[in-house]
Order: sequence, then C-alpha cells, then structure tokens
Amino acid sequence: MLIARTRESQRERELDQQVQDEEQEQRDDQRLLCAACGQLVTRREHEIARNGSHQHTFTNPHGLVFNIGCFGEASGCVQTGEATYEWTWFDGFKWRVALCGHCHTHLGWGYRSNAGDGFYGLILERITAPS
Ligand SMILES: [Zn+2]
Repeated sequence: MLIARTRESQRERELDQQVQDEEQEQRDDQRLLCAACGQLVTRREHEIARNGSHQHTFTNPHGLVFNIGCFGEASGCVQTGEATYEWTWFDGFKWRVALCGHCHTHLGWGYRSNAGDGFYGLILERITAPS
C-alpha cells in the first residue's frame, strides 16, 4: 500500500513536470514566422530599438505605408539588390531588400552602416507568431 502510494505520487510529479515543461516551452516560444509560408524569420529576443523606438511607420516614395519593427538579426531572411542610401529611413544606413529565404516574399529591409553595424526593419504584418 505504501509502495503503491509512493509510485502514484512519483507519477504525479512526472505529470507536473510535463505540464511545467510545456508551459516553459510556450514562454520560450519567441519565434516569428513568415506569414506567407511559416518559415522561421527571427525571434522576439532580437527586437531592438532604432532612433528610440522598435516600431516605425514609414511611407515609401510610391506612397505605400509600412509599419516595421527593428531586429538585430533575422536569420530567415535573404538580402537582394545593391545596397543604397537612396530614400533610406535610417540616417547613415544603406538598405537592401530583405526577402523570406524560403518563399521570397518581401519581408522588409536589411540596413548596414559603413561602420558595419547592421539590423533589419521587418514589415510587421508579414511576420507572425506561431498559432
Ligand atoms: Zn516565406
């Protein structure tokens, strides 16, 4: 009887541990995915502030409005095109177009200064948390 009860509480402890592990995983799930294809783009822990803010709203020369967030890295992106200062939204930073590395949806821009400092400005409606 005593042994049976001990086994039971052992089992309960294991179940508790499983629940805790799952909760931990959800807390740790900082992934941000390409909204088009689900590829991992970056993680919330890479969110950074530029010019005093993580989020920025910019209008491009064609009048399109973009709500972007700044990220220190975005390993799921590939950059394309020539780096240029033209119309840059961040003084001192050249930009290139950043695409999803999997489906090539336009996700935002990669920025780099001449000093080699780099970050990404990603269009927030095109990246999404796992559902
Ligand atoms: Zn994609």
